[in-house]
Amino acid sequence: PLVLGIETSCDETGVGVVRGTRLLANVIASSMEQHARYGGVVPEVAARAHLEALTPTLTTALDEAGVTLDELDAIAVTSGPGLSGALMVGVGAAKALAVATGKPLYAVNHLVGHVGADVLSTGDDGGAEVEYPTIALLVSGGHTSLLLVRDLISDVELLGETIDDAAGEAFDKVARLLGLPYPGGPQIDAAAASGDPTAIRFPRGLSLPKDMAEHRYDFSFSGLKTAVARWVEQRQDAGEPVPVADVAASFREAVADVLVTKAIAACNDLGVPRLLLGGGVVANARVRALAEQRADAAGIALRIPPLSLCTDNGAMIAALGAQLVAGGRPPSGLGFAADSTLPVTDIQA
Ligand code: ATP
Ligand code: MG
Ligand code: FE
Repeated sequence: PLVLGIETSCDETGVGVVRGTRLLANVIASSMEQHARYGGVVPEVAARAHLEALTPTLTTALDEAGVTLDELDAIAVTSGPGLSGALMVGVGAAKALAVATGKPLYAVNHLVGHVGADVLSTGDDGGAEVEYPTIALLVSGGHTSLLLVRDLISDVELLGETIDDAAGEAFDKVARLLGLPYPGGPQIDAAAASGDPTAIRFPRGLSLPKDMAEHRYDFSFSGLKTAVARWVEQRQDAGEPVPVADVAASFREAVADVLVTKAIAACNDLGVPRLLLGGGVVANARVRALAEQRADAAGIALRIPPLSLCTDNGAMIAALGAQLVAGGRPPSGLGFAADSTLPVTDIQA
């Protein structure tokens, strides 16, 4: 099926077009720079930016795909989770489009969309051979979630998630206290390249035996952020320079270690020899390298979609919509609402 996908859950306005598992267009407008001076995404600013960007992004996506609205089999839109005001812009636009064109509308889950990105093929092979069940680790500025995906359109289970900050948020906050600009992830990644990851032993949240009993698949990054802040303050109070590269490398190591350790543990515990990574933090060089190294050692097949499909985008929403259409699911109709806390088990709203 030919499906258009609209994504506005955070700061990316994404419109994608797919034909089944074939990617035809993936156009993204980001309001990231508008949030830079606040050190994080400002919901009101993001919603307003979506309103301005949506129509041009839609037009460009249809042009790039070489299709018209008339030809579509369905429209898919992210209805949650995410920022309420931001979601409402995409949901409103998608409903208007559905009414105007008479096309069936599918309201889908953003997190499951990240997993759905994996089915897309950007080459000439017409579609990736994705096998289930798979464990999926989604790490971004808003989420750190570990999922067991038994079937993309019918059976997704939340194994664990962050109990405080998301991993990307931790990167952004630590960058800020090191005096690096927003978004902090790429800045820390670059600074860490010349640092010593063993210079400082920062805590691995929820990894002690007692925590593992209760929170085996959950994450916590606020203690790590505080530990970095304290370490930096002590240096400054002592009048000593802060070794930014070593702090960045040691912090990055702690995040990568705990993310990969828990994801591989889930694979091993549940006997699932497949791991999919998604979300903007997957751009991190150390997260990728450690995941590759440990998955390889454990005999786990690791899948990392191209980065343009890992960060928030409309193509992944279109891909999930296309899977729902192909699976014979009825459309969502127009009665659904944006839901900022939509649980991952609600694949389609
Ligand atoms: P959502 O949580 O809804 O997916 P988001 O906009 O926060 O939304 P993404 O756009 O996927 O998510 O990712 C952005 C986050 O990824 C930011 O926190 C950013 O710092 C982080 N990030 C980007 N590149 C890197 C990197 N190389 N290393 C670590 N973190 C990174
Ligand atoms: Mg973003
Ligand atoms: Fe996302």
